[in-house]
Amino acid sequence: MGIKVAKFGGSSVADGIQLTKTRQIIEQDPDRRYVVVSAPGKRFEGDNKITDLLYLCKTHIDHNLPYDQIFQVVADRFMAVEVNLGVDVDLLTHLDTIRDNLRRNPSTDYIASRGEFLNAILVAAFLGFDFVDTAPLIKFDSRGKLLMEETDEALRDELAKHERAVLPGFYGSTPDGKIKTFSRGGSDITGALVARAIKADVYENWTDVSGFLMADPRIVKNPKQIKTISYKELRELSYMGAGVLHEDAIYPARMANVPINIKNTNDPADHGTMIVGEADFDDPAEKSRIVTGIAGSKDFTVVALYKNMMSSERGFVRRILGILDDYNINFEHLPSGIDTVSVVMSNKDIGDRLDDVLDEFRSRLRPDSIDVLEDIALIATVGRRMSLRSGVAARLFTALAEAKVNIRMIDQGSSEMNIIVGVENKDFEKAVRAIYSAFSEEE
Ligand code: ASP
Repeated sequence: MGIKVAKFGGSSVADGIQLTKTRQIIEQDPDRRYVVVSAPGKRFEGDNKITDLLYLCKTHIDHNLPYDQIFQVVADRFMAVEVNLGVDVDLLTHLDTIRDNLRRNPSTDYIASRGEFLNAILVAAFLGFDFVDTAPLIKFDSRGKLLMEETDEALRDELAKHERAVLPGFYGSTPDGKIKTFSRGGSDITGALVARAIKADVYENWTDVSGFLMADPRIVKNPKQIKTISYKELRELSYMGAGVLHEDAIYPARMANVPINIKNTNDPADHGTMIVGEADFDDPAEKSRIVTGIAGSKDFTVVALYKNMMSSERGFVRRILGILDDYNINFEHLPSGIDTVSVVMSNKDIGDRLDDVLDEFRSRLRPDSIDVLEDIALIATVGRRMSLRSGVAARLFTALAEAKVNIRMIDQGSSEMNIIVGVENKDFEKAVRAIYSAFSEEE
């Protein structure tokens, strides 16, 4: 017998119907001993997420606007679930306590966390598991930074006392006892921390899709499912925007070498996607696959600086980074040649400060010329085996050339696990489709 941690996202716990599916899944496998839940999510298109309503309550409180009706919507949803599931957890008392606290204008994090708190109490009763609050177990320092090791120890000690338990995701607390949440979608992190602490055999992340797809289905028709992916590849892809799992959830699982299985509550028989360490690929079919996934996003700006003899000028790149630092702008990539260096930044980061940044570049770097490419899309083609094969780049560039996509920038990460191309925004979808069809037939 092993131990599985099963985290259920908002749509898997949105109402009585979904919770019944969730219970069936848990009952099917006695190894599923520790369950982490999100707050109830949307039940249908246009519905509200409980967490969004709670944030809205806080906004109203801060603006001295009435919030009772909004909170009542939250309360009604939980009460309907209590009736629906036929459990009795004295919800009214819990809701009254929260209402009392709301009158004292508590912190945003406290209010936002109550969705997970109430839901975990309900789900624990429905499953007949213990409820274990994460407030004293997930520990942050006074500045809000997660204390990994302290958390690990606290979770391990507490869970040793419970054969089976349900824990609320998304939050913990600071040393003064105040509730602190992760960023949005953070219940994934809670699940990973629990899985690490108890050295689970697998961390199952139950959601409403059957894992990751090789490309965005809004761009590519019926893309293939990614059956297995390494933690590192996933990092590369999620940074580019493929966001099923909170990216901070990867680290704790990876540290403890716990595989993460993304599964679909509405289609539990589907294998889903397995996220594993580099050394854990035992499927021979996986060995022949070059490209694991393709992800990208639009709206970047590339500033190409040219200066004769740049390579022998000390501190040039350092000064570029200094300027970006002054403006609090992150660079995404920094491809360079002997006398050129390009700075790739997201338009969101630059905002309306491009002209100011260019002025700084001119006066502090004195380049011979500056070229600016606006409205650039970046596409990352990721695969851990790319470096072992010859001709991968050639195939990618040929596919783009045949699709008549003009490549404006190329950057191959030094890990050789990804090739990043910059194309014009207008060519983005076409380029993704071309790359996908060049590599999807592998296996
Ligand atoms: N309920 C929180 C959110 O909506 C956290 C989570 O679901 O993971 O962001």
